[in-house]
Amino acid sequence: MELIDGNLISRQIIEELTLEVSNLVGIKPSVTFVRVGEDPASVSYVNKKGKVAARIGIESNLMVFPEIITQEELINEITTLNEDPSVHGILVQAPLPSHIDERVVFNHVLPTKDVDGFNAANLGRLCQEDDDAFVACTPAGIVELIKRSKIETEGKRAVILGRSLIVGKPVALLMAKKGNPGNCTVTICHSRTRDLATVTREADILVAAIGRAEFVKADMVKPGAAVIDVGINRVEDASRPRGYRLVGDVAFDEVSEIASQMTPVPGGVGPMTVAMLMRNTVKAYLMATQAIT
Ligand code: NDP
Repeated sequence: MELIDGNLISRQIIEELTLEVSNLVGIKPSVTFVRVGEDPASVSYVNKKGKVAARIGIESNLMVFPEIITQEELINEITTLNEDPSVHGILVQAPLPSHIDERVVFNHVLPTKDVDGFNAANLGRLCQEDDDAFVACTPAGIVELIKRSKIETEGKRAVILGRSLIVGKPVALLMAKKGNPGNCTVTICHSRTRDLATVTREADILVAAIGRAEFVKADMVKPGAAVIDVGINRVEDASRPRGYRLVGDVAFDEVSEIASQMTPVPGGVGPMTVAMLMRNTVKAYLMATQAIT
């Protein structure tokens, strides 16, 4: 089995972007992170994104609002960012507090600054196979891993486990689109899928994004399949300093015995998400500056 090293591939992308940004003259790409509240995971994700941006030469700004901010107030703040020409990309860190409708907020981000790719306009453009679409970062990262690992997709059977808007559905669209990577015959599975193992065993490329620790066992995988594990799950582990370890949605040890290529967790899809956010920011900058000139 060949391990797909997401750390290595994301570092290559970050190096490529660093070179690209260093060659830009004038103003540099700029992204604003919007965080509501102090959720520790959100704090950590946003900090990480800021550090990677700085390494590349992308300017990043962080706006933090208290948990009690109303949806209307948050929308007003985003309107201000939408109208600010010095802001090329906007990322609203999820999850938002329960009194705020994330969909309304994501749809309010100007589509041309929507570096997270969650705006309905960008999801629609993805359906239209429009290259100008901002593709959500995790799905874009998965396809980039597939491309750089030279996994053949043409005419292959891809099975996507999970139908979320942030992972499963966009991945399915990307795998089915015309082109390379693409041209797959795609099946999407979810919690109501009957006889799941029969479906997953048909996959030449299996993408697991369900959030269930080590759910995909070897008897659910076709020998020789490429397996992309998106899941990030904590399982108790008293031997670890933090008392837990991270595992994917795939039982790595047994599936790695039969897969041809496979992503580990951690170190597979995870690092690609931040790299793709940076790529989307540079894309937003280029689209904005080309629109001005
Ligand atoms: P969601 O909870 O939004 O969606 C999970 C999907 O899996 C749903 O479509 C659900 O079906 C399906 N599902 C759940 N249980 C089963 C089951 N037993 N059999 C078949 N299908 C099932 O999760 P996300 O898409 O947001 O995330 C999925 C995983 O990926 C999580 O572990 C998350 O942490 C990780 N993730 C990793 C990222 C990264 O950067 N590496 C980024 C984003 C997510 P139904 O629709 O019927 O409920």
